Amino acid sequence: MASSIASANIAAQDFHYFLVLDFEATCIKNGMLAPQEIIEFPVLKVSGRTFEVESEFHTYVEPQVHEVGEFCTELTGITKEMVAGKPHLPDVLEMFHDWMQKEDLLSNETKSIFVTCGDWDLKTMLPGHCEYCKLPIKPYFNQWINIKKPFARVTGEYPKSMMAMLERLDLKHVGRHHSGLDDCKNIAKILKAIAERKFRFIPTGAKR
Ligand code: AMP
Ligand code: MG
Ligand code: MG
Repeated sequence: MASSIASANIAAQDFHYFLVLDFEATCIKNGMLAPQEIIEFPVLKVSGRTFEVESEFHTYVEPQVHEVGEFCTELTGITKEMVAGKPHLPDVLEMFHDWMQKEDLLSNETKSIFVTCGDWDLKTMLPGHCEYCKLPIKPYFNQWINIKKPFARVTGEYPKSMMAMLERLDLKHVGRHHSGLDDCKNIAKILKAIAERKFRFIPTGAKR
């Protein structure tokens, strides 16, 4: 039961839940794919009181234009076989919405916000892929916390990367770097460490 008790150092938060998200996407070495497509869609539901992970949404996503190439597999560990037959983005967004509903994250009484490392996931990647699919974006994706900004507030340095934040906070990296789900677990560790420095999170990014 120890994990359900909030540490005395954790500041009271304006959010009941933090939704840590880290997409992986098709990519090539030294270049840009158009369209770039999400191939891994992981989200961790983190308690705003204890900062423990309470639930997880995870699926690989089959790309519709460019296949997962050798460089992308080397970077992310995601192979062609892992995405073959997986849902495409429109279905994944419906599955995710159902998960939000099931986790009681859509009610007016529950306040939650996405947490990402950088602004790319929700400012660039999701809007770009949705535009390609001619899909509207749900309003809950329009606001987020870029964890690099609160990190900069508590340490006085703007971090280069997730790895740099882990090192500075003396946190052990878990899993495989550039696996979306493992990246989420590491971002959640950073989020908790910042909360333990009595930091009260506010949104840092929003879509125009
Ligand atoms: P990350 O969350 O840092 O694992 O990166 C998210 C996505 O950005 C990856 O799935 C790639 O599509 C792209 N990306 C990250 N690093 C690189 C890189 N060195 N070269 C090309 N694409 C990259
Ligand atoms: Mg990322
Ligand atoms: Mg990642």
